Amino acid sequence: MSKVELTIIGCGDAFANGARMHTCFYIKASHCGLLLDCGASAVPGLKKYGVDSNDIDTIVISHFHGDHFGGIPFLLLEESLRQREKPLTIISPPTGRERITQLLNLLYPSSDVLGRLNLLFKTFIPGGMLQADHLEVCAFPVVHTEEAFPHGLRIGIGGKIISYSGDTEWTPVLIELARDADLFICECNFYDSAIKGHMNYMTLRAYDKQLTYKQILLTHFGAEMLQNLDQVRHACAEDGLKIVL
Ligand SMILES: [Zn+2]
Ligand SMILES: [Zn+2]
Repeated sequence: MSKVELTIIGCGDAFANGARMHTCFYIKASHCGLLLDCGASAVPGLKKYGVDSNDIDTIVISHFHGDHFGGIPFLLLEESLRQREKPLTIISPPTGRERITQLLNLLYPSSDVLGRLNLLFKTFIPGGMLQADHLEVCAFPVVHTEEAFPHGLRIGIGGKIISYSGDTEWTPVLIELARDADLFICECNFYDSAIKGHMNYMTLRAYDKQLTYKQILLTHFGAEMLQNLDQVRHACAEDGLKIVL
């Protein structure tokens, strides 16, 4: 089986605590290059870590917060200016096309970016499975700002399963999401503060025995989590880190 390589382009929270970039993971398998979330700082991050935008075939979005999808207009604008011909698929919760169109019109009026690119928008069905070229996406509704359509994702790519909580507080859905996953990427915004819509490390530890992932990676750290990293026994994300599965 060929390897699947994940590069952390950004693993910060919305406020870039610790000078970490917004959420964006690049996953490379033999037939597919995938961005998992595309936060506002994704374009500088991709350049910093040497990802060629032509090696991105698909973007999968967990929910509609700027630190998870705000980088898409900049990425699409540059792709249109360099006259990208290769198709690009964007997989998201419902309303993705409308929201991305609105963002582009606000940020770059009359640029006609969408008309110049070979874009395919796909919407995942919460609780269902979506088949796309060389990958499968299962989407699970999670507990975060409801208006942002928050989802956890279970992605089958290159013979591996990568699960991602998106932004969420603890929910039993995570047990199903992480089941036997080769890698489970879990947001852990706080250390011990119980804040609605986000995970904290003490809660995750309390439920950890119920999670049957093969490997875990904690991400999306706020200031409190960063101050307590020396107490954390689980693997932690860092911008630029690569993981081979
Ligand atoms: Zn969010
Ligand atoms: Zn976030």
